[in-house]
Amino acid sequence: QQQQYRQQQRELMLQQQQQQQQQMMQMEQQRQYPDGRGFKVASDDEEDPIPVQEAQRGLNAYSVPAGGRGTLGRNSSYTVNDMMAKIRVCVRKRPLSSKEVHRGEKDMASVSGRQLAVDEPKVRLDMTKFIERHKFVFDEVFDSDATNEDVYRRTAYPLVQYLFEGGKATCFAYGQTGSGKTYTMLDDSQGLYVLAARDIFVKLRSPENAHLSIFMGFYEIYQGQLHDLLNERKKLHAREDGKNGVVVAGLKEFEIVNVEGLMQVFAYGNNARSTGSTRANADSSRSHAIMQIVLKDSASKTVIGKLSFIDLAGSERGADRGETDVKTRMEGAEINKSLLALKECIRALDQDKKHTPFRQSKLTQVLKDSFVGNSRTCMIATISPNNSNSEHTLNTLRYADRVKELKAEGGAKG
Ligand code: ADP
Ligand code: MG
Repeated sequence: QQQQYRQQQRELMLQQQQQQQQQMMQMEQQRQYPDGRGFKVASDDEEDPIPVQEAQRGLNAYSVPAGGRGTLGRNSSYTVNDMMAKIRVCVRKRPLSSKEVHRGEKDMASVSGRQLAVDEPKVRLDMTKFIERHKFVFDEVFDSDATNEDVYRRTAYPLVQYLFEGGKATCFAYGQTGSGKTYTMLDDSQGLYVLAARDIFVKLRSPENAHLSIFMGFYEIYQGQLHDLLNERKKLHAREDGKNGVVVAGLKEFEIVNVEGLMQVFAYGNNARSTGSTRANADSSRSHAIMQIVLKDSASKTVIGKLSFIDLAGSERGADRGETDVKTRMEGAEINKSLLALKECIRALDQDKKHTPFRQSKLTQVLKDSFVGNSRTCMIATISPNNSNSEHTLNTLRYADRVKELKAEGGAKG
């Protein structure tokens, strides 16, 4: 009899546990998407919820940090699933390329939940080799098998919601040339901007948004100079508008009514990016590309919200590598200055500082409205996993780590 009683108690406990888990899961989903819809596959004309199983898989993949919820250091208000945080810093690791595999290169980066470990090959004074392991924690870490869709759902998707709430949001790709910045942000068919556009036009078609329209601008910053990619690389100037804002005067904007339209205009601008006649030596890795989607009131043309996708210049271009070519050195200095200024501006936003040093570079100047109180920022640091790039990879991770200092208890620091 006693045994039967114990069995019953056990079953009861299990049931309760399962209920609790289910409740937590529901709460998690509501936190991710304030409208409580959970994950969804958006297409241009319909909204299908993603099957629960897949949603759960997403959650499980997410909730593996060492120590679990609430142990993430100084910032006690930080929750593991805080997709609506003001600043999010994420890392994406690309797969080894077939060339790298062919050369016999090793994958030095291992992902475990929100933790990332990078093994750095080193040599002692006595010439013996050894491996030093560096550990980091970020808001999200995407392993090499993550698709752009996976990355999108956990990075830019919340920013799309925010755009329609009338916010300013910016999504950056930062990293070494060849690490996957363009693939992530501005790939012509599956870049985050395309995936965001699908959701944006779905939202735009709902009756409560009938008074809104979408405009797109696309420009580049090369050597501190702005070029309009949608207007024959015309030089543009940033001006302070007297209302505490900065405008890019004369920037050409196209009204866009569907995803195809957006992709077409993008392709036109992207072509100007790489083949401009003025750019004998400059390739896209030496410039910052800024693609912005602006939500306006159709009648008054007032800006309601803005979402920008930024493909930054290759971070290694900013390093002083003892270049002898004056032009290359000047390019490097300018890139270095803008990437440092960017870091300082995001840090100022993170720490709610009164002063934001946005005037330190052209990049941060044109992005001024991304660094004020109610804006949202998501940085995706892209890394190459192969051993010959571990130094660059570590530089990228240290930069990302500084943008928002988020430390696991017990000091998982690189
Ligand atoms: P970057 O813009 O940082 O210089 P790219 O986006 O051009 O780098 O990526 C370099 C190469 O790696 C491209 O051929 C790209 O298709 C490939 N690549 C980058 N990221 C991924 C990924 N996550 N999965 C598969 N291929 C990728
Ligand atoms: Mg690129």
